[in-house]
Amino acid sequence: MSHNWAGNLRYAATRLHEPSTVDEVRRLVDGSERIRALGTRHSFNTVADTRHELLSTASLVGPVTMDADARTVTVPAGMRYGDLAQALEASGWALANLASLPHISVGGAVATGTHGSGDRTGSLASAVAALDLVTADGSLLTLRRGEPDFDGAVVSLGALGIVTAVTLDIEPSYAIEQHVIERMPLAAALDDLDAVTSAAYSVSLFTTWQDPDTIGQAWFKRRPERDAPLPAFGGVPADGERHPLPGISPVNCTPQLGAPGRWLDRLPHFRLAFTPSNGDELQSEYLVPRVHAADAIRAIRNLDSRIAPLLQVAEMRTVAADELWLSPAYGCDVLGLHFTWQPRQIEVEALLPTLEDALAPYAPRPHWGKLFSAGDVSSRYPRAADFAALRARLDPSGKFGNKFLERHLPRD
Ligand SMILES: Cc1cc2nc3c(=O)[nH]c(=O)nc-3n(C[C@H](O)[C@H](O)[C@H](O)COP(=O)(O)OP(=O)(O)OC[C@H]3O[C@@H](n4cnc5c(N)ncnc54)[C@H](O)[C@@H]3O)c2cc1C
Repeated sequence: MSHNWAGNLRYAATRLHEPSTVDEVRRLVDGSERIRALGTRHSFNTVADTRHELLSTASLVGPVTMDADARTVTVPAGMRYGDLAQALEASGWALANLASLPHISVGGAVATGTHGSGDRTGSLASAVAALDLVTADGSLLTLRRGEPDFDGAVVSLGALGIVTAVTLDIEPSYAIEQHVIERMPLAAALDDLDAVTSAAYSVSLFTTWQDPDTIGQAWFKRRPERDAPLPAFGGVPADGERHPLPGISPVNCTPQLGAPGRWLDRLPHFRLAFTPSNGDELQSEYLVPRVHAADAIRAIRNLDSRIAPLLQVAEMRTVAADELWLSPAYGCDVLGLHFTWQPRQIEVEALLPTLEDALAPYAPRPHWGKLFSAGDVSSRYPRAADFAALRARLDPSGKFGNKFLERHLPRD
């Protein structure tokens, strides 16, 4: 079996299936004792892994159906956001948000609560209006927003079955302009963090923690027709395009310097055509309620000398609350404290408990697809018991279970 995107995990599965039709998926699931879905392999931990069979959605074909009246698009679950964004834009439509990288599958992103940034924008999972799920006996179940099981089935970690198609909310295409402000004083930003994160449609705060008193780069993605003029918050507008990592050429980054352009060319940090190299980074992220955001950042700042030597860059983003049971944004607006680490896994994993202890007072929920050290995290999800009951009903024999689920969301 092959590796995940970062190359830090060799999947333990004995077989990899690559079905191209939903009927094939149904037959494979029905005939298997233990099987799990695999998307584009961008997770850094064992969330997707199994010692049994994996079913990749990469070859799963299906129509891309836009419904202008309902303002939705239905896509095969293995489709990558970058390809979907191109198809939508060609018809004058857009998604409300994108993650930093456009190469990730819709099904995999949704299953882990993947997010972009924006005070008033939910995670990519919150855009799901319906999904088709192949359940343990091979039957195909369609769940729609508003139905009783829907909120439990969207961020599912692959535990309920194989999602074959996803219906997402869309809106008319829009323009974004991107501005980078450098060397923003941290103390002033923390005094009124809401002012900073609400200053544009989508805001990302990058720092290497080398200089713990400044935010190295703040990326503001404005919707020019609705966002107010952008203050500099004591920083300096960048005089050229920037890469989030200091000293790296911005050639693969999306256009900046305030030039307006298509949403799909500005919401991700990296260009659609850019294929990032594999294996040269690891990632962790903790999402904390917005009310604790400034204190959580201060707690991380106090660990700057431990974090900086292992870090490539840290990013802070906001995500609006949703009602999806296993979403890190369940029930409250959150701030994501993200870390792009150097590929030094042993040292990173040795540091994570310290980092998690420092964040413990702020009720952090780890990103499901990134490295973390906490064990059972059920208590951080008020609907965890409901999710366990849904799992027991849809998958009584544990066909879609794995060690990751046993460890982090034990059934009892
Ligand atoms: C370079 C990079 C940038 C990233 N940027 C962001 C970011 O900006 N924001 C963010 O929040 N995260 C980000 N991530 C994390 C990433 O979005 C998540 O790990 C996501 O789950 C990866 O999707 P995938 O298709 O690769 O899923 P995989 O890693 O293949 O699988 C993840 C989980 O989803 C399940 N799954 C996949 N497909 C299906 C399906 N069809 N049906 C049921 N379950 C399914 C799997 O079983 C598994 O449990 C980034 C990761 C990388 C490597």
